[in-house]
Order: sequence, then structure tokens, then C-alpha cells
Amino acid sequence: MTNHTEWHSTGCILCSTNCGLQVQTREGHLIKIRGDKNNPRSKGYTCEKPAQLDRYQNHADRLRSPLRRTPDGEFEEIDWDTAIAEVSNRLDQIRQKHGGDKIMYYGGGGQGNHLGGAYSSATRRALGMRYQSNALAQEKTGEFWVERQMFGARPEPDFQSTEVAVFIGKNPWHSHGFERARVTLREISKDPERSMIVIDPRRTETADLADHFLQVRPGTDAFLLAAMLAVLVQEDLIDHAFLNAHTKTFRDLKPILEEIDVAAYSKRAGVDPEHTRAAARRIGRATSVAVLEDLGIEMAPHSTLNSYLEKLLYVLTGHFGRPGTMNVGTHLGKLIGTGSDNRRSPVGGHRIITGLIPCNVIPDEILTDHPNRFRGMIIESGNPVHSLADSPRMREALDALDCVIVIDVAMTETARHADYILPAASQYEKTETTFFGGGFPEHVFQLRQPLFEPMPGTLTEPEIHSRLCRALGAYRDVDLSELKAAAEEGGESFARTFSATLAERPNLAAIMPVVLYETLGPRLPAGQQEAALLWAACQQLAASEEESVRRAGLDGTGPALGQALFEALLDHPEGVVISKDVHEVSFQRLQTEDGRIQLVIPELIEELQALADEAAPSQDDAFPFVLAAGERRGNTANTIYRDPAWRRKDPEGALRINPRDAARVGVAPGGRVRITTKRGALETVVEITDTLQEGHITLPNGLGLDFPDERGERKVCGVPPNELTSSEDRDPWAGTPWHKHVRARLEACEPGPL
Ligand code: SF4
Repeated sequence: MTNHTEWHSTGCILCSTNCGLQVQTREGHLIKIRGDKNNPRSKGYTCEKPAQLDRYQNHADRLRSPLRRTPDGEFEEIDWDTAIAEVSNRLDQIRQKHGGDKIMYYGGGGQGNHLGGAYSSATRRALGMRYQSNALAQEKTGEFWVERQMFGARPEPDFQSTEVAVFIGKNPWHSHGFERARVTLREISKDPERSMIVIDPRRTETADLADHFLQVRPGTDAFLLAAMLAVLVQEDLIDHAFLNAHTKTFRDLKPILEEIDVAAYSKRAGVDPEHTRAAARRIGRATSVAVLEDLGIEMAPHSTLNSYLEKLLYVLTGHFGRPGTMNVGTHLGKLIGTGSDNRRSPVGGHRIITGLIPCNVIPDEILTDHPNRFRGMIIESGNPVHSLADSPRMREALDALDCVIVIDVAMTETARHADYILPAASQYEKTETTFFGGGFPEHVFQLRQPLFEPMPGTLTEPEIHSRLCRALGAYRDVDLSELKAAAEEGGESFARTFSATLAERPNLAAIMPVVLYETLGPRLPAGQQEAALLWAACQQLAASEEESVRRAGLDGTGPALGQALFEALLDHPEGVVISKDVHEVSFQRLQTEDGRIQLVIPELIEELQALADEAAPSQDDAFPFVLAAGERRGNTANTIYRDPAWRRKDPEGALRINPRDAARVGVAPGGRVRITTKRGALETVVEITDTLQEGHITLPNGLGLDFPDERGERKVCGVPPNELTSSEDRDPWAGTPWHKHVRARLEACEPGPL
């Protein structure tokens, strides 16, 4: 086993920012961890969370052998040949009897691992699978849908040089979401020429740094955002020159916003109308504004409308396509599907956005006698039983399937419902990366190299998919011999042969990732075979964004430029700038029909107008509280850390509650309450804090995993939030859940300590 006694570059896998890290290792353990100053994006920055990464790499629930469910419901170990043969056979039986489209794919990666999902496309095509989903479909698909209508692209904020930073339903102090978040927040906060606007129902750590903190009543963000837009229009703080040049339909939108009663909408949102006006004026008069929304509005009532109104804030004021505003960057590889959004789910006819079925409807697509129901699932690097709404119903759905295959690093709540579990090497035991955005104007990409050999008994996901494709008859060795020979001859020959082969052989084009893994992969430096897929992505980026790639200092044209880009990734495990954009290119990347930003989304205009008649919710005596289920805190990290011992403070993940509510419920600091929703009831400890409004309570994300204690007994630590959520509470357009707005009641269980 190789020990890294010198600092070795890698990356953090705990959130989408993927800060660069340097580590030292010994005997399979990460023993020292620090920020990597050589990472061009994070430049040495980290938060407190990655210090415990060895608890991800080494823990009691890591899987060490393929497992097969036995008739008595237990698991037994099997060897890999048996596992691949039986898994491919079971899936093939479903394909033959019901069609490959009756097998659904879920997952494909988390915060630090997207290569497995990219290779899975080969297995999916080999089986004729058509439907998939992942956690993005319970968070971001509403926003994606809006972006597709308005821009045909995904604008990203430039907080480094913006004058006014706006955070809506977002606490970057803990949830990050852009590079060097805390440094940037402090810089903006200290600079008298710059401002920060925060819209959030809770007074967060970010709100404490803000110039304008609009503490919105839970669930009323749409009213506040509509009021802010109304101020911009009514006080003519609109950038007319920008709208004339880049949009067409302001005349249709203007009268709708002119009619909005700013005072009434602000009061509905629990915000002083003068505060609404002051924040809107700051946006309207700034030279540059960058805006970031997050789950606070994406998992709450009017979630898709919220995303639309958020984007109108910066478009109407012309904060797009310039430094410090919103820009459209380049992407190496795709995180988001590019197909049409006109598809519907096979049973319920639910809208499929960016290729993803809404997470909340997955059980409905299984628990039915409809002939199109799903019969099997492949779940890879995902834990839907824990992380999707209504855990009891998700368990019931998995148990109703003919076959469930789980590919994962650890024994998860979902894996326990599998028929076969295929154990994957950890994110530090293989070459890995993510396809999250890499920044603008410079796009940084980091291809992490393995720190350790795969744990005995595990395989990397590319190897698993390659074996499955072979077992399914998707390719034979003889099919790849010409490409293997070309790979030995070098880049130019391989590029030529690859294009010709895939053009002639659609069956190989369908499983292209595996073809690259098997042909180019073995020619790559030791341990980097999994990187082969990125060769194609590099070729694609070099072809489509040649100028931007060359501006990053890479030489060549055509396939030679793609090759140079690929080699740069392999040579720079600390991360490398792969493209440099000029801001004007944001306009060229608009993929709408007429190349302009679309201001009007008819379905959402209807919902916006309907706000005027929306009755205020009546006091619900059965469930008087609004629970935000899944708050990001300093000691939460999704479910990547299963071992609860990593959480030194607040091990159980307390329910936060306002002091006056605590007094009414009769609970003291550290006391316990029973929290009840229409879906379930659980007990938890409380933390009393005046950062919350009365009536608003919060639970952290990532808690409630079951894990063996020192005696080997499995214990659930904290509240698994989705035992309390219901899949029917979701956005009407995107199907995204309203986890930040769960009606609940509380009862004190016992007095707290004196
Ligand atoms: S900000 Fe995110 S990626 Fe960076 S160190 Fe913290 S958890 Fe890891």
C-alpha cells in the first residue's frame, strides 16, 4: 500500500464547491488534510468539514464484497463473476419480458463523484433503459426548467467582483455553492462600496453579514420577490437599453408588475415595505449584481415561480453578460441532460425536466398495476430511501420491484432493500471528478487521482459497467481490437479511428464510455483508466469552444487541441484552468429560439397573477409550525459521512425553535420534543434560538443514518427528515418537494436540564 508522506493533491467531496485539498496518507488512512493553494479555484480555502474525511474512507459500513439477497431476507457474499452474471441476467429478464424502459436508473453521483454515472449510460443503453432520476430532481429541476425557457443556458453568479450580492433562500456560510464562500462574504460585508442582500426566513450566519436582510415569512418568498420586481418597474429602475437589445416581451410583463401592490405583498411576506423598496432600489441602481438562489426557495411553495422571479430581478436590471453579474460559462461534460423537456413519466405523465423524473413521484410510478410501471431499478451512489420524501413509501416501492441493484461504497438505508449490492471503490480509490460548474470567466476542472488502491473486494464503477455491458452482449473483444491498436499508435490515430468506428457502428456509439474505458483507458497512466471518458468530453469542448480553450493557454486546433486539454487534466491533479471566456460570449450562448432572453413564461405568469387572490393560510391548529426539514449547518454533510462520530458538536442534530415557541411548548434548552407531521412522528432534542421566527422550526440535513456503535449495535442518530415528509407536497410544475415547508406540531417529552 502506497503511503503519501509528501502532500498529495486531491479534492473535497462534501459539497459542490469541491475545494482543492492536499493530504498525507498512511496505511490506507488520510492522516493530514489541508487546503491546496495550488488549486486555481479554491486557492487553499476550505471550511471545517473535510478535516474528518478519513471517516468517509474508513468506516464500519464500507462494503467489501458483492452481496446477494437470500430467500430469508439476509445478504450473502458472492464473487464478482457470479454477481455480474446474475445481475445482468436478472435485468435482461425484465428487458425481455417487459421492455428495458421498465428499468429505472437513480443516482449516478453525489458531491464529488460523477464518473460512475457517466459510465452508467453505457449499461442503460445496453438494456434499453429510458428513465432516470437523481437528487437534482428534488432540488433544482424547477430552476432548470425556468432557465431553459428564459436562457436555454445556465447563468452563474460572479460574486468575486460584484457590487451587490443577493442570496435568496441560501446561506452560503454553511452551504457554500461558490468558491471561497466565507472569504468572499467577509470581503463584501467589509467593503462600504458593496452590499449584500439576504432573503431568508431564518437569521442565518450570512444574514448577519448582510446590509439588507429581509426576514421573509416561511413560504411567502414569491410575494416578496414579486414586490421587489414591482418596485423596479414602478420606480423605473429598469435597464431599458438592455431589454431592448436582448429581450422582446417586456411590454407584456410590465403591466402585470405595475399592478402589484408593493405594501400589501410585502406585508404578506412579513417584511416592512420600506425594506422591500430599499433592497430593490439597491439592485436597480447598482453597476453590477450577482444573484444565487437555493433550496430555501426551491423546496418551498411556489418554488418554480420563485426561480422565475429571482431571474427577472437581474434580467430586468440588465445584470447579465458583464463582470460581476450573471454569465454563461463553458462546461466540460454535462451534469444536466440536454434532451427535450417534453417527455412525461410513463405512469403518471409527470413532466420530465433535464431528463429527470421528479423524485417525489417515483413510488407512484412503481406502486400501481399500470402496465407501464417500473419493474426494476439500478441505484448508483444514491440513497433515495433516506434522501427522498416519504421514506416509508420509498421502502415499500423498492420492495415491490422485481429486482433492485445497488452500486455503492457503503451499506446504506437503500442498499438494505436491494436484491444485489455491487460494492464500489471509494472516491479516493480511483480517478474521479465532478461536472459541477467550474467558474466564470475561468473554468477550472480538477481530475483527482487515486490516493489508494481499490479496497479488496470492490471495483470502480467504470469497471462494473464495462463488465455488465460485456455480460449483456453489448460488445465483444473483437469489436474493440482496431481501436485498441489505434490507441497504441497515439492520439491522432486514435481520434481518427474512434470517429470512423463510432460512425459505422451505432451499437458501439451507444456504449461509447465503456468503449473508451476498454481501448484508450489501458494506455493512460497507471490508475487513471477511469479518465478515458473525459477524452471525448475534451474533444467536444475543444471543438465547440476553441477560442476559450486556447485563451487558457492550450495549443493546437481540432483533435490536437482536445488532446492537449485531456493531457492537461491528467498532468494537473490539483486542478487546471481549461477555458477563459470573455463576458460578451454569454449572449452567444443563449440557446433560445431567437437568441434573446425570454421574459415571459406563460404558465408562471398565470401563477404570478394568481398571487393577488391567494388567501393567506389559516392558522392550522393541528400542525401550527412550519418545519424546514434539511437545514445546512456547520456539522452536516449530506449522508457522505455515515459515522456520526464526525459530528463533535450537536451530535443528534437538534430541532431549532424560537424562545417564545419553546416556552409555549414547555421545553427548555436541551429538552426533548415529539415532532409530528401528517406523515410521521419522531422525538428529538431542541436548541432554542432567536434566529428563528415564531412558528418556524428547523431540522438539519443528513441526520438519521443508522450506524453500528462501539458494541456493533446499529443505532439511528438524529432525525431522518424524510420519515416526516410527504411526497404529495410538491411543486405543480417541476414536482420538487416542499421540504422547507412541512406542517408540524410539537409536544414536550420531558423537561430539559436545569
Ligand atoms: S466548502 Fe465544500 S468543498 Fe470546500 S471544504 Fe467545505 S465542504 Fe468541502
